[in-house]
Amino acid sequence: MSIEQYGLFDQEETEKQKMASAMPQIVSEPPADRLFLPGVLAAEAHPDLNEYESLKNRARNCAGCRLRATCKQVVFGAGNIKSKIVFIGEGPGSDEDDQGIPFVGRAGQLLNQILAAADFKREEVYIANVVKCRPPGNRLPNPDEVKVCRNFLEAEIRIIQPKIIVCMGAMASQTVIDPRAKIGQLRGKWLLRNGIKLMPTYHPAALLRNPNYKRPTWEDFKLIRDEYRTLT
Ligand code: URA
Repeated sequence: MSIEQYGLFDQEETEKQKMASAMPQIVSEPPADRLFLPGVLAAEAHPDLNEYESLKNRARNCAGCRLRATCKQVVFGAGNIKSKIVFIGEGPGSDEDDQGIPFVGRAGQLLNQILAAADFKREEVYIANVVKCRPPGNRLPNPDEVKVCRNFLEAEIRIIQPKIIVCMGAMASQTVIDPRAKIGQLRGKWLLRNGIKLMPTYHPAALLRNPNYKRPTWEDFKLIRDEYRTLT
């Protein structure tokens, strides 16, 4: 079985699972030589680095794909590296590229509002992106760019050891949960892998484009808030 096939959609849905839709659904465990994210190889996910600042420094000096040539700076994750919850987006936009901090533009401001409404202080959570360099013209990151950069995301998750990961949007859900993930189908239900709860939800930028997504996103954030409260 190719690694791109492991994940949520490889499971046969049993009657029990169908009935227990409120329970976290278990996403199949990665094989031993693979790590948390589908497709990531242990040897490529910076296994020599166990310290956050060293990882960040390596990312800052990374030229592993073409994106570094066109962006202003590498935008690594930010926030509380001891947090039990990690929010993952797609990649930096123009404001993030200017400031070197994830989610500071319009989508970031909306994310701040949603976090505050769900009783999260931005400083208490950790926020990361699938790719750390801005794709030119805000295009989607290409698969080969994601393939290089997700090794940093894997290492961020390994070092931070969150209990909850929120995948905001299709790119984050496909990178973290399953390459075939469809956000409209998956959102709003807990998934579980290696003891980490995963919640796919809409990306804040999608809410700016389509206000109909606001209500379901808020439903998802209430679940996230309630689950997080059980941890603290
Ligand atoms: N969108 C993202 O996915 N990440 C950011 O940092 C900003 C906007």
